[in-house]
Amino acid sequence: MSELYTWQNETWLRWAGLRSRLPHAILLKGPQGIGKFDFAMNLAQSLLCEKPLSDGLACQNCPSCHWFQQESHPDFRLLQPDALAEAEDGEERDAGKKKPSRQISVDQVRALADFVNLSAHRGGHRVVLIHPAEAMNTNAANALLKTLEEPSERMLIILVSHKPQQLLPTILSRCLTLVMPMPTLEASAAWLNQKGINNPAALLAQAGFAPLQAARLAEEAAGADEYNRFLQEIRNPAKFDVFALAEQLQKTEPTKVIHWLQQWCYDLSSAKLTGKVRYNSELIDLIKIISNRIPALELSRYQKELLFARREALHPLNPKLQFESILLSYRQMMLAGS
Ligand SMILES: [Zn+2]
Repeated sequence: MSELYTWQNETWLRWAGLRSRLPHAILLKGPQGIGKFDFAMNLAQSLLCEKPLSDGLACQNCPSCHWFQQESHPDFRLLQPDALAEAEDGEERDAGKKKPSRQISVDQVRALADFVNLSAHRGGHRVVLIHPAEAMNTNAANALLKTLEEPSERMLIILVSHKPQQLLPTILSRCLTLVMPMPTLEASAAWLNQKGINNPAALLAQAGFAPLQAARLAEEAAGADEYNRFLQEIRNPAKFDVFALAEQLQKTEPTKVIHWLQQWCYDLSSAKLTGKVRYNSELIDLIKIISNRIPALELSRYQKELLFARREALHPLNPKLQFESILLSYRQMMLAGS
C-alpha cells in the first residue's frame, strides 16, 4: 500500500473535489523524491475501490483493493521503464543479459490499445498510470497522444513527471495539472525521524530537500556500512569466525550476502587474471595479495557454488545454515593455498 504523505493532504482534497467531474487525463508534476508516484497510486486505487472512505481514500478491504494490492487489478495498467520495474522488484540481473530500458517504449503504449477499447472488467473506472511520463520516447508519446485525442468513457490516464517541460505540448494541453507540493523542512524531517533517520538536516540538503530521496540516500549509506563491515570480516580468513558472522547476518537478505561474495570473488579472480578489479577499487592492493594466494581452480569452484547458492537463496529454509555453508566453503577456498 502506498503512503499518502502529510504534505499531500491539501492536494488530496483537491483531487477528491475533482472526482465528480473526472478529467480524462491528469498530470502530477513536481520535483523528484517528494512522493508523486505514491500519490498517483493512492489516486488510482481510490478510483477503482468499490467502497471508498469518506475522505475519498481506498478502503483496502474490497475485492478491488485486494487486486490492486496484489498488482493484478484488471482495470489498472502501470507503464514504466523496464529499468524502474526491475529495480522495484529488487531483482538482480545475470551478467550478459541485456540492460533494461530506461525508456517507455511505443510497444508499451500500443499494448494499451486493447485495454482502452474494452470496457472495465469490474464495471467501474479504468486507470492508466505512466511514470515517469518523460521516459516516453517520441514514438511512445505520439502513440499516447492518439489515445488522449479519443478519450474513453470512465477512463483516467495519470501522468507523473519530474520534467514536464520534456513532454509534448499537445499532451500537456490535454491534461489537468496538479502541482505536487514540496514538503516543508519540518514535515520532511518529521517523516524521516519516523523512519528512524536521526538528524536528517544534512541528508535533506544533500537530497535537494526531497524527503524520499533523502531516505534513499540513508538506506544506501546503511547498506554501504553493512557491506564494509562484511568485507572487514572476510578479508582475513584465518581470523574470521564463520558461525559468529552467520549469526550476525541472520537479518540480512541471503541474496544480498551472496551478491557481495560474488562481487568480492569477481574482483579476486579478475585481479588474478588481469590485475584489475571492478567493484572494490579502493582495495586493489589487498585484493591482489589475497588473490595470489588462492589457487585459480578453487576460486572458480567457489564462484560456481555461489551461483548455485543464489538460486537456492530465493527460498531459503534457514538463512543461517545457508550462510554457514557458503562461509565455511569460502574459508576453505581462502586457506586452500596456504
Ligand atoms: Zn476498496
